[in-house]
Amino acid sequence: MINPLDLLETLRRFPALESFHLGLSCEQEPLLPEGGRKDLFCGALGENAICNSCCRTSFEKAFRDATQDNQPIIFQCPIGLFNVAVPFRSDKNQACCLFAGGVRDQGQDRPQMEILSNAASADGTALLEKLEQRPRVNREQLDDAIAKILAVIPALANNQPLTQPLQKMTQRLNAITAIAAEIDRTHTFDEAITLLGEALIILFDLPKIAVILTEGDVFCVKTVLGMANTSFKISSQKISELLSCHTDGKPIILHQEIDNFFPQVEAERVICLPLEVEEKSLGMVTLFDVDLHHRDLLLIEQLTGRFSAKLLRLKHEDEHSQSHATAHRLITMISELSLFTNCEALYRNLVEMCCELLGASRGSLMLIDKTGESLQIAAARGINLEVARSAPIRMGEGISGRVARSGLHLLVSDIEKDCRVGIPNRPRFKTKSFICFPMKAKDRIIGVLNLADKETGGIFTDVDLKHLHILAGHAAQMIDRTAALENAQKLEELAVRDPLTGLYNRRLLETRFHEELNRCSRLKQSFAIIMVDLDFFKTYNDHCGHIAGDNALRKVAALLKKSAREMDFITRYGGEEFCLMLPSTTKEEALFVAERIRRAIENEPFPGETSMPQGKLTTSIGIASFPSDGEKFETLVNAADLALYQAKSKGRNRLATFEPIFQQRSKKTG
Ligand code: GH3
Ligand code: MG
Ligand code: MG
Repeated sequence: MINPLDLLETLRRFPALESFHLGLSCEQEPLLPEGGRKDLFCGALGENAICNSCCRTSFEKAFRDATQDNQPIIFQCPIGLFNVAVPFRSDKNQACCLFAGGVRDQGQDRPQMEILSNAASADGTALLEKLEQRPRVNREQLDDAIAKILAVIPALANNQPLTQPLQKMTQRLNAITAIAAEIDRTHTFDEAITLLGEALIILFDLPKIAVILTEGDVFCVKTVLGMANTSFKISSQKISELLSCHTDGKPIILHQEIDNFFPQVEAERVICLPLEVEEKSLGMVTLFDVDLHHRDLLLIEQLTGRFSAKLLRLKHEDEHSQSHATAHRLITMISELSLFTNCEALYRNLVEMCCELLGASRGSLMLIDKTGESLQIAAARGINLEVARSAPIRMGEGISGRVARSGLHLLVSDIEKDCRVGIPNRPRFKTKSFICFPMKAKDRIIGVLNLADKETGGIFTDVDLKHLHILAGHAAQMIDRTAALENAQKLEELAVRDPLTGLYNRRLLETRFHEELNRCSRLKQSFAIIMVDLDFFKTYNDHCGHIAGDNALRKVAALLKKSAREMDFITRYGGEEFCLMLPSTTKEEALFVAERIRRAIENEPFPGETSMPQGKLTTSIGIASFPSDGEKFETLVNAADLALYQAKSKGRNRLATFEPIFQQRSKKTG
């Protein structure tokens, strides 16, 4: 049981309560008004018409409110002074209230004071002066006053019902300390968020909660409790604006503006607790439709503070492991790229990898063409290649053209605001941020890489640029090397092909011959050489002209390809002579192939061939084989030539096989 006067006496000794006028009331009656008059509870301004008329009413209301709910309250008297009312039960079991107040807020409402002083015109100036002299306190100091009074009550009275809120608070404080430690021990964002949500719901009985966190440079709703998940949508930009207007880290309370920030939530008010550590905004916890006692709010702030610290630590850990993973992926990408020997595949894969690395939904590689005057698109993602190819970009023009000329990269957050670009965003792009990066091989600019439209909708960062620098640097060398390799291959191809028919030439036949010779000697197999020579081709040329002759030679080349087998090696040996090498083939098998060729040419219509001696363009074929007819290139080709000569001398349009004992056999079929 508590003696009200003892309580007052004890509190008077507290330096923190020095600025406050203290008063007591039991069963509505003032026990010890400091002003000396019975009507005046606070007495801070002495006697005046306004205090005399309304002080009692406002203190009586505060008495009722505080004792009814058994909760300390902060209230303002009509003149604008702040007071706290802390309820307790006296030793006579009377409902009592301790008042501490008569203080001004930091931002006292001056117009209100003026109105009051005007109303009390008689002593207006004196009242204003007195008001000005009252000490100013902030919200924390009022909270502190309540905490001090609440701390003294249980010391003076044991087991009183009014000590229950304090016990409850102590319990919550203990619970919060335990939960904060628990949050510290979590390993993932999800675990930490779940724990925070549960703690808020269970400890403070909150109806609707949402946790909004930053992800990169945007805000995302991470968890929603007490509301349908789907109904909760936010605009990252608006949340960012809201937080940037309240940078002191204190809770933000919204009433009417709630629709502006949370249009889909049906609520009348919201308390937004910013999550902030080291001046870094990590998001906020939003509590809808609650009237929290400032004490509880302080406890919740303590919890969200610990949660923020944990979030930042998790973020750091995440960034660390992500940069580890990215470094690993970069190495894999570089080694994968180095395996491509074909330019097209290299370009395509490079664009894909850059997009993956930077999370870009659009990307293109543009290379400077042979003239050195324009850029041609080599590969692209998210852009139609044919359309892009139809419009080459001139060096020095447009964003890519300028980067290709200057060799200086462009990292742009907002295309419309960046003074280096300053053009309206083009409609095909979803976001306004992009990177245009020059590709340099041995200090020579070979093209540019364009990356745009982050999949997250965010902006490209310096970290992205750093990664691109590494990948593009290696890729540029690879492009240079692969292009040189492809060129060399093309030249080599040209050197071994006959330009008129596209068939291989005699030089390559000789190389392949030796390879085949080695193989068949080792495996003890035979292979065949077939010499094909068009009959009376000089006559055909004379009658039909050289151009028709050339066309006929092309046609014959196509017929040879069609009639020979996949594995056979066909060459143009000389003017109207063709030589075929038939791997792993006996002379008998070669005869079948040769006959198919002879017949194909005989049956093929050639323009103007009716003027030929035999009425059509035909061919004679000589056949020789390894090892029976020779084991050297010259010997075998000679043998096939001799057989061909036999075929000619026997009347042409026929086959002849070489017979080592010069008993050549000639045969006409068809
Ligand atoms: P044979 O039946 O004895 O082989 O008679 P031929 O007229 O075919 O023999 P010859 O070797 O005397 O003539 C080959 C002719 O092939 C000479 C030339 O007019 C023609 N010729 C060779 N190379 C080309 C070419 O690249 N284009 C054209 N249009 N004709 C060619
Ligand atoms: Mg000839
Ligand atoms: Mg001929």
